Amino acid sequence: NYILGIETSCDETAVAIVKNGREIISNVVASQIESHKRFGGVVPEVASRHHVEQITIVLEEAFENANMTWDQIDAIAVTEGPGLVGALLVGVNAAKALAFAKQKPLIGVHHIAGHIYANRFEREFEFPLLALIVSGGHTELVLMNKHGSYELIGETRDDAAGEAYDKVARMLELPYPGGPQIDLLAAVGEESIDFPRAWLETDSFDFSFSGLKSSVINTIHNARQRGESLKKEDIAASFQASVVDVLTTKTWKAAQTYNVKQVIVAGGVAANQGLRKSLAEQFETTDIPLLIPPLKLCTDNAAMIAAAGFVAYEKGKHAGWDLNANPSLVLN
Ligand code: ATP
Ligand code: MG
Ligand code: FE
Repeated sequence: NYILGIETSCDETAVAIVKNGREIISNVVASQIESHKRFGGVVPEVASRHHVEQITIVLEEAFENANMTWDQIDAIAVTEGPGLVGALLVGVNAAKALAFAKQKPLIGVHHIAGHIYANRFEREFEFPLLALIVSGGHTELVLMNKHGSYELIGETRDDAAGEAYDKVARMLELPYPGGPQIDLLAAVGEESIDFPRAWLETDSFDFSFSGLKSSVINTIHNARQRGESLKKEDIAASFQASVVDVLTTKTWKAAQTYNVKQVIVAGGVAANQGLRKSLAEQFETTDIPLLIPPLKLCTDNAAMIAAAGFVAYEKGKHAGWDLNANPSLVLN
């Protein structure tokens, strides 16, 4: 079966065609990063307008790259939430119009389910499975007992990991998006500053990054007052060490507690070199296999939406014509 995936929840307009939820036939992503850079973050109105301009072009390219036609497509899967409502609406309306015109089943997909299913291009899932989701808007540990079933066992109580990266990057006057910039600096910096680790209660799998963020602000501020200047590389390395330490340790503990057969990592921050290395080292000491998607499948794309949509398609879970953008959709 061939599923067409559409993703427009934030600042990438993406369309992909995926075979049987496992094989990418085409995967086109139009990024808006350049347009949002001068504002230092995503401007919702600008994002919506870009999606409207890009969606048909990206759709045509996805078919061209696949060398396929509409009659070969079995269903259309689209991100229905969470995300920016105006951005989501472009994808949802495009999917509905196409499903109606081409007489194809329509499937609504949760954006984070998509991030999780980006891992299925690497290897088949084995349950129970633990997913660490680290993206611009989410930091969660999710337990899956079967395809399409999600149990939240921990989440951030304040900022998401990606959000913390972007905010610290802004303080260091690095260009948007800041995550990859900090990652590069961290690789050459020294972990010379001892930033706090938010472990929370002993058995908690929740996260918190706002204390760390404040600590970084205070450290920069105090140094300035003393007339000292800290090296950006060292701040980046020390900040990243704190984030990576907590993410790795909690994921490892949760994997033991729930006796899982696989650990997967998902979301934009899964592209982080420090996190990839730390998780790989930690799980090397166990017999639990660790899956991390290749870099280009970590950030937003539509192949992951088609892969998650395939699971719903197999179960016959189709959406009705009342499918709507839901900016606060819950994963369950
Ligand atoms: P969500 O998926 O929660 O709706 P989103 O779609 O905006 O949010 P993603 O596209 O999954 O988020 O990821 C973007 C985030 O990942 C940004 O915060 C970005 O800074 C971060 N990021 C990307 N690459 C790296 C990296 N190498 N190191 C750290 N963070 C990174
Ligand atoms: Mg994005
Ligand atoms: Fe995302």
